[in-house]
Amino acid sequence: MSNDIKMEKIVNLCKQYGFVFPGSEIYGGFANTWDFGPVGVELKNNIKKAWWKRFVQEDPKTFGVDAAILMNPKVWQASGHVESFGDPKMDCKKCKQRFRADTLIEEFSNGEVAAEAMSNEELEKYIEDNHITCPNCNGFDWTKIRKFNPMFKTTRGTLEDDADVVYLRPETCQGEYVNFLNVQRTTRTKVPFAIAQIGKSFRNEITPGNFLFRTIEFEQMELQKFSKEEDSMGYYEEYKRKAMEFAVDLGLDKEKLRYHDHDKLAHYAKAACDIQYNFPIGWEELNGIHHRGVWDLSRHSEFSGKKMEYQDPDTNEKYVPNVIEYSIGADRLTLAVLCNSYEEEKIGDDIREVMHFHPFIAPYKVAILPLVKKFHSNKAKEIYKIISKSFMATYDETGSIGKRYRRQDIIGTPYCITVDDETLNNETVTVRNRDDMSQITLKLEEIKEYINKNIEF
Ligand code: ATP
Repeated sequence: MSNDIKMEKIVNLCKQYGFVFPGSEIYGGFANTWDFGPVGVELKNNIKKAWWKRFVQEDPKTFGVDAAILMNPKVWQASGHVESFGDPKMDCKKCKQRFRADTLIEEFSNGEVAAEAMSNEELEKYIEDNHITCPNCNGFDWTKIRKFNPMFKTTRGTLEDDADVVYLRPETCQGEYVNFLNVQRTTRTKVPFAIAQIGKSFRNEITPGNFLFRTIEFEQMELQKFSKEEDSMGYYEEYKRKAMEFAVDLGLDKEKLRYHDHDKLAHYAKAACDIQYNFPIGWEELNGIHHRGVWDLSRHSEFSGKKMEYQDPDTNEKYVPNVIEYSIGADRLTLAVLCNSYEEEKIGDDIREVMHFHPFIAPYKVAILPLVKKFHSNKAKEIYKIISKSFMATYDETGSIGKRYRRQDIIGTPYCITVDDETLNNETVTVRNRDDMSQITLKLEEIKEYINKNIEF
């Protein structure tokens, strides 16, 4: 599919057709917040459904949770967020813009230098030695690096006291770790098993932007696989493979996806890899797969005083399981899907704009279109009533049939059902395919099965 699409084009298109609107727009917006519109919410929900189906529904050893966003503040001490989470920030003294030092280096070196694992001193020295200037004003007058805590703080209770500070979670995974024992006990499952969750995270990102790519509020789809140490590397490789398969099956072009193994690792990590997608802004992280060792469960044992151990019922051996984490942003993936699906197709002198979504994630599976409003709308409405019990469907009776097809193409509706005299006389409809515009005739009672078969994921 054509993917030389510019970010600006996608942003405008999303606004025009009801995928995504700027947050709080009538008040002039609120930077880096976005509201999903009527078709955007369907698309994103379907992407989440596809993920859940693949990783939870189809895996008997993965269990879902939906943990609270506000957690005991001690969780964020255990996770290290309160003390040290935070990106290394430096300000340009000339233009007062703030940047992430590691990003400056990664951009300067075209991703050759693994800056995320460098100490502050190493980052400052590299920037100095290589004379990396401010991307905004080209100046070379940096402050020292400061750590900046990206957690949003709020207070619990009526007094705004420091003792009542709570945080909006900056990642969903802690909700999975703190429930490790609960899930294991209630499901009576043996290690290895996984806990999955989809939910909102909040980060006071210093350099948000690029539409849905980096926002201050976003949804993560994550799972943590708990296993014995000797099995953990196998699961790490398995999730690298499964994460790539999922992205490809969802419709992302293979040649726009690649693995990016991390050279330098967090002190507790045994391996880490991203899958990158070639966004309009270049190759960027789509998701991460991390081998986190026993770090998370051990830290929660330490801070909560509760032993986060598993006892093997066959051998009686007690141990802290290793964790493999697979984490992907639902909004970032939605952006990749939008960029990847868009095509401008030349038909004669005309341009057809179409979103080639996988039918499973298409906002509407089917559009019901009466050929002539006066004669066919009653029957079409009847059909809509029946079909919409099974699928998200839309109904459109205004404009020429050609225009109506185009309206469905750009929002990615895979099937258009035209209701005409044949429907009144013979109970048949014309079904038009979005991608190749071919048409077939189906009996009314065949529609449901036909769509069901063709939207499978
Ligand atoms: P990045 O390096 O892009 O900041 P990260 O390494 O901090 O990402 P993780 O903490 O591993 O990311 O989060 C897992 C996934 O969540 C990312 O791969 C991405 O898809 C998504 N994600 C992270 N931060 C954001 C954000 N600010 N906006 C949208 N999605 C995000």
